[in-house]
Amino acid sequence: RMDDGSVKVFKGYRVQHSTVRGPAKGGIRYHQNVNIDEVKALAAWMTFKCAVVNIPYGGGKGGIVCDPSKLSDSELRRLTRRFTAMIAPIIGPDQDIPAPDVGTNANVMGWIMDTYSMLKGHCVPGVVTGKPLELGGALGRHEATGRGVMLCCRALTEKLGLDIKDCTFAIQGFGNVGSTAAYLIADLGAKVVAISDHTAAYYCADGLDVHDMLKYAAGNGRVLQGYKADGATEINKEDLLYIDANFLVPAALEGQITEDNADMIKAKYIVEGANGPTSYEADQILNAKGKIIVPDILANAGGVIVSYFEWVQNLQSLSWSLDEVNGKLADILLKAFDEVYALADERKYSMRTAAYIIALRRLVKTKKIRGIFP
Ligand code: NAD
Repeated sequence: RMDDGSVKVFKGYRVQHSTVRGPAKGGIRYHQNVNIDEVKALAAWMTFKCAVVNIPYGGGKGGIVCDPSKLSDSELRRLTRRFTAMIAPIIGPDQDIPAPDVGTNANVMGWIMDTYSMLKGHCVPGVVTGKPLELGGALGRHEATGRGVMLCCRALTEKLGLDIKDCTFAIQGFGNVGSTAAYLIADLGAKVVAISDHTAAYYCADGLDVHDMLKYAAGNGRVLQGYKADGATEINKEDLLYIDANFLVPAALEGQITEDNADMIKAKYIVEGANGPTSYEADQILNAKGKIIVPDILANAGGVIVSYFEWVQNLQSLSWSLDEVNGKLADILLKAFDEVYALADERKYSMRTAAYIIALRRLVKTKKIRGIFP
């Protein structure tokens, strides 16, 4: 029911791609372009992501075709409650655990938790992750994906014998993933020379002041447009991808690096914060040129790892400290990074191929052990 009393029908999906290694796990997207094929693809990525970092989940994803920016808070709440009621029979802490994705946030997860709990007649915090802290959310969840991107960048420099303080970075996207990765990378002493969002892009050869940009965006509707600082020049948004930096971190949208622009990328190392920023054809071109790409299913897995911690804490009614969360995140992600890097190095595969091999091996092995039912 809309605020004006009228009734509107929205289409929503929940896809469970795999439950071989554990309950399905994956976000819920609110966006006008949501469609069943996109939800299926995102669910499959979750299966491989959870397998490559070896956490006990399958893959799922959901979405509602809607433009959340055009809905009031109460409309969003009613939409979320109705969707939750419709998928309630197939979700649950042992079955399928949703989380936030593009267009959804901690508030939406709180409404899902409440609706599901009211239907069950008792509190079920473990049905969803990315919740507000007051409802059993995990410390560090908000920053987890960007932190994981930073950890992968640092790990790659260590493998290659580089000092991250001597490296330059260009980061596309200044939302949750991009902005967190940017300030954590800058805090390591590296130079973040270029940053963009959908409104503007900035360059500074000596390194942008990321914390100043964060402060500016926080007071400017979360966008960078209009940012001014000594030494920072505004550049074309499209040119961010072609900046002469050591590292490129696409952390905005899918499909950014394609066969049309892959040749123009100067960065030697690409760490994929976004899901699916590089097309298959672009991947081939970049590999042929000797670029090293840390693939999305590894580089942005920090979010689902800390979602896993949230679920574990909910099931045990425990509450971990931020240091504990960040320490365990680094343990799991860096172990996966080492495994992927070692296989790629030994067999001369790309890191993407190595990551999929490791994920598929785990999935196949589990399926074989479980066997066919009945
Ligand atoms: P977000 O909505 O917080 O931020 C997206 C950012 O991209 C915004 O700054 C936006 O302005 C920018 N952007 C959009 N179009 C752009 C363009 N053409 N050029 C430059 N910037 C542009 O989203 P997010 O949560 O940071 O997610 C970013 C990506 O990371 C998505 O692909 C998402 O699926 C993926 N991801 C997110 C998480 C998570 O925990 N948030 C986890 C895994 C993967």
